Amino acid sequence: HAKAQGRNGIAFYKQGMSDAVSRQLKLEVALRKAIEERQFRLYYQAQVNIGNGQVSGAEVLIRWNHPELGIIAPDEFISVLESSALISIVGQWVFETACYQLAQWVADGIWKDDYHLCINISPRQFRDTDFTAGIERVVKKTGVPAHCLEMEITENIVIYDLDKAIEIMRDLHGLGIRFSIDDFGTGYSSLRYIKRLPVNVLKIDRTFIQDMCTEKDDASIVDTIIAMARHMGLDVVAEGVETQDQLELLKSLGCPNYQGYYFSPPGTADEFKQLLLAA
Ligand code: C2E
Ligand code: MG
Ligand code: MG
Ligand code: MG
Repeated sequence: HAKAQGRNGIAFYKQGMSDAVSRQLKLEVALRKAIEERQFRLYYQAQVNIGNGQVSGAEVLIRWNHPELGIIAPDEFISVLESSALISIVGQWVFETACYQLAQWVADGIWKDDYHLCINISPRQFRDTDFTAGIERVVKKTGVPAHCLEMEITENIVIYDLDKAIEIMRDLHGLGIRFSIDDFGTGYSSLRYIKRLPVNVLKIDRTFIQDMCTEKDDASIVDTIIAMARHMGLDVVAEGVETQDQLELLKSLGCPNYQGYYFSPPGTADEFKQLLLAA
């Protein structure tokens, strides 16, 4: 096929391929080094109860503190980790580090028993044979209250073995861990699949919140998700709230929780601790 396009066609095609592949490989090498040299950091972003305006927990968000490039956001590297199986190593590190941090806040007496620490879990981590055992080990070792832990998964988990995922979620549920569906409304799954997942929380994707004050359709979608969650007995967190108008609208729609720059951007553990101390 490529041959019919002539020599230049082939050369161009190969050039393009090798650029993408070599970029991926370079990133992989750099990420392996980042793991060895402990260049990852955890940031924390508050979740807020809309009813009383108080902190109700936090989401854990990874950053890569590159020695030359500085802080790199996860969208730049999570997909590389996911395609190279390094996500299992990093995912484990995230969970363990977050649990040690949580244990510290509990020991400091600033973490309330009904707060939730929410940790993003890549669908691929569910395919690790020892995923549940690893989680259980860390929960025991750190002594954190498992009912304060929440795992954020995406609808795309259904791409993998759904029955297996449900089984693992049930096991973790047994430990007391909650589950939320992240970026709700943007994935590939249907409500029929979602219904089968043992989840406690829906996180409304930021793209719906973004324009909800000006786009009627977005407001309708948000309204519908909140109503559906209420009927199903699920909690809700609206993601990416940046303005007071968005917050007011969410309040009028009966949304129980939110997260976003309007309250506070993700920050270091010390920065989040200040929010806890002020609560
Ligand atoms: P996510 O789980 O949906 O996280 C929410 C993202 O929205 C975060 O981006 C957060 O910084 C950003 N955000 C929060 N409030 C606002 C706001 O008011 N406005 C805007 N424009 N953005 C807001 P971040 O930290 O860059 O993370 C991006 C994604 O990377 C996350 O999306 C999550 O899917 C993934 N991710 C982050 N940490 C981890 C991790 O430890 N493990 C895995 N597997 N994925 C992670
Ligand atoms: Mg998330
Ligand atoms: Mg999200
Ligand atoms: Mg996202």
